[in-house]
Amino acid sequence: MDGKLVLGILNGDDIGHEIVPAAVEVTRAAAARTGLEIDWRPMPIGRSALDTHGSTLPEGTMEALSGMDGFILGPIGHQAYPKVAGAINPHPIMRKHFGLFANIRPTRSYPGLGAIHDGVDLVIVRENNEGFQPDRNVVAGSGEFRPTEDVTISVRVITRAGSSRVARAAFEIARQRRKRLTVVHKNTVFKLGCGMFVEECHRVAKEFPDVTVDEVIVDTMAMRLIRDPQSFDVVVTTNMFGDILSDEAAGLVGGLGMAPGLCIGEGALAMAQATHGSAPDIAGKGIANPFAMIESTRMMIEWLGHDRGIAKAVDTASLMQQAIVAALADPATRTQDIRGTGGTADMTRGIVAAIEAGRSHAAA
Ligand code: ATP
Repeated sequence: MDGKLVLGILNGDDIGHEIVPAAVEVTRAAAARTGLEIDWRPMPIGRSALDTHGSTLPEGTMEALSGMDGFILGPIGHQAYPKVAGAINPHPIMRKHFGLFANIRPTRSYPGLGAIHDGVDLVIVRENNEGFQPDRNVVAGSGEFRPTEDVTISVRVITRAGSSRVARAAFEIARQRRKRLTVVHKNTVFKLGCGMFVEECHRVAKEFPDVTVDEVIVDTMAMRLIRDPQSFDVVVTTNMFGDILSDEAAGLVGGLGMAPGLCIGEGALAMAQATHGSAPDIAGKGIANPFAMIESTRMMIEWLGHDRGIAKAVDTASLMQQAIVAALADPATRTQDIRGTGGTADMTRGIVAAIEAGRSHAAA
């Protein structure tokens, strides 16, 4: 049965004010073709929300989001926030609050964009709510502390439950793709932490006999990603390893503008969040690459379509995908970081034009 989606729009900071509206414009155009109903709800967040609501994560935003199907979260430039009460980094709180434990980060090469390799098509599934990240691996306080002036301790948290659920999410994705899963870790050194992560991955593997599993040590993985990225399909790993490897993978295919991401979890809420930050150096210049944000949004629409059984959402995502590929093929409708001659608006218009010229499955 076809239903309506309720989606939040959270611009974030800096280039977020350019690329999030681009993602909404593209999605609106595709939804108009397929007849998918979307109720868009803009919500305050980030530096602008600090000025208007006294907090970078206003209470009303969290409350409203909890009743939605998903939301687009633009990049957050928290490093530049003033040191005042109310100026917090919102996204770790959101990932934790909404139980968004799996961060799905695909890397794909498109011809003509200056990718180091052709034929790359892999997905890194990164555990999102524990590991080494001190702002989300404890309930209160910080997982990083300094008992004396000269000593700093960083705590890494690995749990069986956290490892098992992200492994299951990765196996599900592998099952839909080429049925190969690589577990990345360093259990040669982190015998207990990575050891537990690997044990849980193998335990979950028993539920997926159709998926072939192998293991690669993280440092070898960093090297193999450069040498033969085509040999990977789905990769599952702990939080910090996944963060670093997904930026490395983005570098293989044109840089951070080409790195989308989707956060999913226990609940039914999904969050579209590009891998890159708010890029203050290029904000306001109209040159930010909107691909990562648009593709993150497309992934969210597709995921919600499957999760909710909304055929028009799946159809919308497929229409967006064809249009994105068409726009990427023309230098005039891609940004300069990926060997284009256009800006954010040109690329957005190019994708919208391809949507309008395309044919939806529903209409076919
Ligand atoms: P964070 O730690 O918040 O992820 P970061 O330090 O990794 O941020 P980014 O803001 O992600 O830094 O960007 C690093 C650089 O990459 C930017 O300064 C910018 O030049 C480039 N960059 C990032 N995103 C884009 C984009 N969408 N389009 C074009 N260039 C980008």
